[in-house]
Amino acid sequence: IFDVQHLEKAFGDHQVLKDINFSIQSGEIVSLIGSSGSGKSTLLRCLNLLEVPTGGDILYHGQSILAPGFDLNKFRAKVGMVFQQFNLFKNMDVLHNCTVGQVKILGRSQKEAEEIALTNLEKVGMAPYRNARPRHLSGGQQQRVAIARALSMDPELLLFDEPTSALDPEMVGEVLETMAELAREGLTMIIVTHEMAFARDVSSRVAFMNEGVILEMGSADQVINHPQHERTREFLGRYL
Ligand code: ATP
Ligand code: MG
Repeated sequence: IFDVQHLEKAFGDHQVLKDINFSIQSGEIVSLIGSSGSGKSTLLRCLNLLEVPTGGDILYHGQSILAPGFDLNKFRAKVGMVFQQFNLFKNMDVLHNCTVGQVKILGRSQKEAEEIALTNLEKVGMAPYRNARPRHLSGGQQQRVAIARALSMDPELLLFDEPTSALDPEMVGEVLETMAELAREGLTMIIVTHEMAFARDVSSRVAFMNEGVILEMGSADQVINHPQHERTREFLGRYL
């Protein structure tokens, strides 16, 4: 789906991403791990062009997303994102949160959008809350609605940026379980996470980022159980 080539991103003279290279195939689950400030969020944000790279290229099905004339709207609908802070629309109930993008961006009818939204809300166990406002839900419930909203757009791939970091500990499990279920269904995902046990269990591959580079990338067993670099071992030592 994606082929990232020599990707660079600088903010002013701060080089945050340096020569990032990897690709992701359909059905893969790639976890991005690494210390705070290593560039994980910036990398995710470059993948859907929330940030514009300052060097290199990102090919989406062989086409550069940076090329003039590239259809960004269509692309953004295909690459969904789930944030740490849920980012639900506060003035809309759960169902409306899951239909508004389908109607406005995909041009679906309200009726069709509601059917699709309900299917996805059922999948994440939130259908009974379809008429609730986000503020009346727990963090874990809000995050599951955010996942249902993203799924309702029929994404080809979902990007997750620390989806459980803002949650109370007792709610982390329900969100991870939802994501594990999506993994079993074959959804392609790139997940920034500090949940090492989860990353080890669900990932097809794990990438360890350090100071703007991918220091090592491989199977979960290679990177988490048998890291090659001292920096990776040090980092994992703080989590395992
Ligand atoms: P964390 O685990 O804390 O979320 P991260 O690995 O996601 O960290 P990034 O958020 O990608 O790290 O940030 C990498 C570096 O880029 C940091 O030094 C950060 O200060 C800097 N940075 C990120 N966004 C911007 C921005 N919009 N303007 C300037 N600097 C930025
Ligand atoms: Mg981050």
